[in-house]
Amino acid sequence: MNKTTDLLTELRKILEEFEQQSISGDLRNRVIALVPAFDTIREIGKSLVDKGLQKSARDRLLAYFLEYPRTVLSEKELAVVAGISEWARRVRELRVEFGWKIITGMTASQMIIAEELGESDFDLDDLAPNDYVLIDVVQDRDAAHRWNVANEIRKGPGGSRQKILEYLRANVGMQVTGEELSYVAQSTEWARRTRELRTEEGWPIVTRHSGNPKLPIGVYVLEDDRQAPAHDRNISDATRRRALQRDKYACRNCGWTYEDWNPSDPRFLELHHVVHHVAGGSNELDNLRTLCNVCHDEVHKLDKKG
Ligand SMILES: [Zn+2]
Ligand SMILES: [Zn+2]
Repeated sequence: MNKTTDLLTELRKILEEFEQQSISGDLRNRVIALVPAFDTIREIGKSLVDKGLQKSARDRLLAYFLEYPRTVLSEKELAVVAGISEWARRVRELRVEFGWKIITGMTASQMIIAEELGESDFDLDDLAPNDYVLIDVVQDRDAAHRWNVANEIRKGPGGSRQKILEYLRANVGMQVTGEELSYVAQSTEWARRTRELRTEEGWPIVTRHSGNPKLPIGVYVLEDDRQAPAHDRNISDATRRRALQRDKYACRNCGWTYEDWNPSDPRFLELHHVVHHVAGGSNELDNLRTLCNVCHDEVHKLDKKG
């Protein structure tokens, strides 16, 4: 009647036979008696998510990820659901070819070190390098194209920081995952290098924790293809976060927030030094003001005239 129940009966029979072989003692016979148990357990795993449509391992994995988004899933769980030994390759396909935003525990832990992920984002207690998390249930249909671009940049010259920047500049205004940046950079320090592009070089790279609280966790966006004016650079992430929070993520001049974002006016928020950095203005909170990029440009134009 129920597929899982039938399979369980079968498994019990196999284990009984194995038990009998154990009594007779021959090693080879015991091993051979245990072999069918593997296949049966796999079939049981498959049957758990088999809803008629999920015929392939990839489909079953996707169904499982979608059932538990933003949840840390272990590799052993995924192996059970997939029912095949090559399941990790199927997960990679979901990511690379089908654009599902799945990150590994390895990537997540590198983001935690760079303070781009926090305890509140999901339960990180048991996060292991080989765990996986689906960070967003929206599929990214341009993903396959982006992975080709990533491959070209990865193979090219330059250090990891330069490659990360090149990749972000090829995707201005688009959400790219930490997984992609890690792949392009070929360095465990990719999250740190990305942060340096923002804090030292002034590229407007935002994440949920550094700039735009409306973004899903685990993604980065280069908001505009230009660096902040030299005097607005070298602001630490901690100070940036505090300044944005203090100003409630709104332009202090016109009141623009990310709620107002639309494709015909793709604004973003920047921090402006009231007393210019070069003129001795500090990088402290008091000297920083949140402005949208349109108002920020105006302020600088007035500066030049004055
Ligand atoms: Zn404004
Ligand atoms: Zn400024």
